[in-house]
Order: sequence, then C-alpha cells, then structure tokens
Amino acid sequence: MGEQVPSPVQVRLDELHARVQLNCEGEVATYIPALGKADPALFGLALATHDGHVYESGDTGVGFTIQSVSKPFVYALALYDRGLNGVLERVGVEPTGEGFDALRLEPETGRPLNPMVNAGAIVTASLVNGDDWGQRFQRILDGLSAFAGRELRVDHEVLASEERTGDHNRALGYLLRNAGVLEGDVDKALAVYFRQCSVVVTARDLAVMGATLAGGGVNPVTGQRVVGADTTEHVLAVMATCGTYDFAGEWLLRAGLPAKSGVAGGLVAVLPSQLGIGVFSPPLDRRGTSVRAIAACQELSARFGLHLMRPV
Ligand code: GLU
Repeated sequence: MGEQVPSPVQVRLDELHARVQLNCEGEVATYIPALGKADPALFGLALATHDGHVYESGDTGVGFTIQSVSKPFVYALALYDRGLNGVLERVGVEPTGEGFDALRLEPETGRPLNPMVNAGAIVTASLVNGDDWGQRFQRILDGLSAFAGRELRVDHEVLASEERTGDHNRALGYLLRNAGVLEGDVDKALAVYFRQCSVVVTARDLAVMGATLAGGGVNPVTGQRVVGADTTEHVLAVMATCGTYDFAGEWLLRAGLPAKSGVAGGLVAVLPSQLGIGVFSPPLDRRGTSVRAIAACQELSARFGLHLMRPV
C-alpha cells in the first residue's frame, strides 16, 4: 500500500498558506486588552465545500473570539425570526464608508446604517427571538453552534475585557434607544452583544459556517437546516456591500466574495452555492481586517477563479 496522495486542492491550499504565512505586516488589536495577547504568527486557513468536505491548512483548530464575524450569522437569525421587513424597520442596509464603531444613524429613521457595524449589530441582536435577554442570548449561542456544527462556548476572559472597555458601544446603545430603534434595558442589550462577540470559534468553524450560508442555510457537515434560503440570500447581499466596513468596496473589487471580518483576526468569505472560507490570523491592517486573511482570500479567489463577477 502506497501513501495516500493528497488532493490537488489540499496541495494548493498548503502552498498558498506557506506563502501568505511569510507576510508579517499588521498589528494585533489591543483596544480590547485580552486580544492583545494573541500570537501574531498564528495563521489558519480552511475551506468547506457545499457537499461537506473540509480542507484545512495551518492553525485551523486554534480557538479565538468570533467578534464581528458573528454579525452576519446573528443577522440571519433575526431575519429568520422577524422577516426581512421586520428587521428593515430597525436596521438599514447601506454601507457606511466608516469604521466598525461609527457613531452615525440615519437622520430620518434613526436606524443604524447596516447590521455589520456595531450600532446595527446591537439592534440586530435585540431582534432575535426570546422572552428575555437570557433566552435571546441562548438562541444566539445555539444558532452560532448550529451554523458551526458543534457546541460553542464563551471566552470569559475576553468577555470581561470587552465589558471593561465597552463604553463606546454603550454610548451607541443609548443613542439607539434614544432614536427609538433599541427597546428595553440598554445594559442588558449590550451584555448580549458583548457575549455574542466573545464566542470562541476556529478557522474550521468559520469555513463550515460560511458553507452553511453558501448552501442556503443547511449545514453541509451535519445536514441540519439552520435558517431559510431567502435569509441567506439577504445576508450574503449585505456581507458583500458592508462586511468589511470602509474596505468593503476594494474588498469586493479584489476578492469578489461576500465576507465578514472581526478584530480578533477571523474572517469568513462565501462563494454562494459552492463554499465557505474561514481564516484566522491576528495581525490587522489599519481598518481592522486580518492582513493574512485579505491576502489569502484574494489569492484563493484569483487562483481558483472564485470572483463572483467573473464571466463563466
Ligand atoms: N467586540 C468588538 C467591538 O464591539 C467587535 C468589533 C469587530 O470585530 O470589528 O468593539
């Protein structure tokens, strides 16, 4: 018996990983102190296909907090629970051209501009089904777990760090309540948002979560339906236009894939109907996106011809 020959996809993924690993630009986020301890050399790259095959290279099993990569998945849960119009009443879908923490609401409606910036994500989390905030968070944790196909948990050290340094987000919460789009206790709404950001995932999890969006809401590994196909269509549209904040235009131009970044260095990218890509590498560029994740996705897109606007 000879040794099993690795698949061509695996070989190309490993080559790409080795090349992108050499890029040492960027800085690890420090505004949430617990994130500042991350090892800048970590780099995991995973690819999950619509039929449930997962290719992995590098540190794909290392846990990190999901941060803003949670936003499209929680948006999916809110859309599933409330319907598109129910969510649109409270959260818009226009790109901000600003950073993740922009202090800007639509002048006439008071809505946050989109669900991918913090203001929009705080309202979105409040729209998920639940009789109280505890139930709402449980639905979010169960939903994220169903997207990943395994039971996820919260990193309490990062959560405590987020809570200690979260005054900007609290300020957003009070603005949102004043504008009439966030109901109830602001501190409790923020507690749900901070917990959502502190859920631990791996690059492999993000790839499977992305593949679940690619497959119209069915997790390709577990076979479980998490949300409906109308929902994933809407989520992917908003990821394409708003997922990387003030970098969204250039991102779509170069990588051509709906995506969402997070400050712990995670990124999910999706090729609809085909695959999910999960990347983790902590050093970020000045707009808060993982440098290696950008490089890896742009290269993957170019080499495998994944750009959505590419003629077939
Ligand atoms: N928890 C972070 C915050 O609200 C998330 C930001 C991000 O990942 O872009 O500040």
